[in-house]
Amino acid sequence: MNANLFAALRDAFPADLDTCAIECAEPGPQGQRLSYSWRDLERGTAMLANLLLSLDLPAGSRIAAHTEKSVEALLLYLAVLRAGFVYLPLNPAYQAAELDYFLRDAEPAVLVCAGANFGWASKLAFLAGTHYVFSLNDDRSGSLLERASSMSDTHSVAERSTDDLAAILYTSGTTGRSKGAMLSHGNLLSNARTLKDLWGWRADDVLIHALPIFHVHGLFVASHGALLAGAKMIWFSKFEPRAVISRFAEATVFMGVPTLYVRMLGEAALTPTACAPMRLFISGSAPLLLDTFTEWQQRSGQKTILERYGMSETLMLTSNPYRALDGDRIGGTVGPALPGVAVRVSKDGGQLCAPGEIGAIEVRGPNVFTGYWRMPEKTQEEFSADAWFKTGDVGFCDANGYYSIVGRSKDLIISGGFNVYPAEIEGYLNELDGVAESAVIGLPHADFGEAVVAVVVAKPAHSPDGAALIATLKRQIAGFKVPKQVFIVEELPRNAMGKVQKNLLREQFGRLFA
Ligand code: AMP
Repeated sequence: MNANLFAALRDAFPADLDTCAIECAEPGPQGQRLSYSWRDLERGTAMLANLLLSLDLPAGSRIAAHTEKSVEALLLYLAVLRAGFVYLPLNPAYQAAELDYFLRDAEPAVLVCAGANFGWASKLAFLAGTHYVFSLNDDRSGSLLERASSMSDTHSVAERSTDDLAAILYTSGTTGRSKGAMLSHGNLLSNARTLKDLWGWRADDVLIHALPIFHVHGLFVASHGALLAGAKMIWFSKFEPRAVISRFAEATVFMGVPTLYVRMLGEAALTPTACAPMRLFISGSAPLLLDTFTEWQQRSGQKTILERYGMSETLMLTSNPYRALDGDRIGGTVGPALPGVAVRVSKDGGQLCAPGEIGAIEVRGPNVFTGYWRMPEKTQEEFSADAWFKTGDVGFCDANGYYSIVGRSKDLIISGGFNVYPAEIEGYLNELDGVAESAVIGLPHADFGEAVVAVVVAKPAHSPDGAALIATLKRQIAGFKVPKQVFIVEELPRNAMGKVQKNLLREQFGRLFA
């Protein structure tokens, strides 16, 4: 049987190919409503696949996409799968130095970029050995579609096996140099099937797709979810809170990073009536604050956000329950391990942690990637001797099997020989009067090695005082965990997926104790 992921997605298309598969939320250039039928998906991916095949590329060629979000960019991804090549999505915000790194590292045979960047991007690509550069704009123009339009609209899906490479995702790189996580057809399909069952995807679902498609969340979790159910998507090329809320009336599922939920909470239009048609709100990619979880419950009429946890290298790993009979969705936790995915928490020496005990999160399963692109040593380092992948996340599992993420092992602060987990301190800080959110970091310190420092964002119309926050914390937690200084800032630096960029904070405040 063909294990090509596209074949499974194609099998899920509804019998009537003329129904709507994707409706664009933003109007077209003449103000018209844009939509794509399942037949458009079938034909468009066939034509793009035929274009790629006409280039006579070597097997395993990487096809890099450095484009704005558009339905055509999604079709390109599906066409790459369909033709049996390897998809390499890149954040369109990347500038020359970043693109140069990815092109040299991944050596794609084809680059598809925005027309506006064609000059500099194609120059970098040709220098890096890329043979073909096409343009694709978010208004359906560009050489990619022009060339594809003369191709046949029939194509039989390339035969692929479970272990064949389908995509390379460069990890978001909040720390260190980006590494390309190699994901196979089997990784992607097994995870998509598990989530389809767990989250109860149905053909009559309507997904609001408002996430970028260069990342695991929007490209895989969201798109595969809808496609594998044969369900319609309402497609936002950019997240706009008020516009998204206004479409809840026609939708059933929304997926977002925590920042998106925070921004929707800032809208008066977020009411129980607006949320009533929705059956599922999912959050992931970064920790969802307990405050956001609770406020959402109140403002949405008890639609409890389902938080899940995963990463580029492993796809999804844990999820809070969907069905009430499987248990409650518990704020601050990322839920139990997914069916078929094994998760364990282990100590430095390798022994397993007891429930509640903090340790390193390690995982196994058909979802775990095949390794980092051209980095065999790095790959080996990230697997334990008994072949569990070390996520780099630190957390614990409670007596009911629910996991909580406490931080990244790289974020762990060792102050005066004591371990300080930033998320724990952030949890206390976020509860204090006037604090909206916080980031705790370790800075080089002559005495302590590292000193604990907090960067805090105030709630609107509040002006918390750093010294007073420190004094309150001193009454609550052990002295070595209390920040030596608290800075109040307007906002925390975040990357495109809403993750706080602690490396930037460490740079900004790094010389505080020098
Ligand atoms: P990425 O590969 O860019 O998706 O980043 C994966 C990392 O995001 C994980 O290793 C976690 O550190 C973090 N992450 C993802 N989901 C969650 C979550 N629900 N709660 C806390 N951290 C998360």
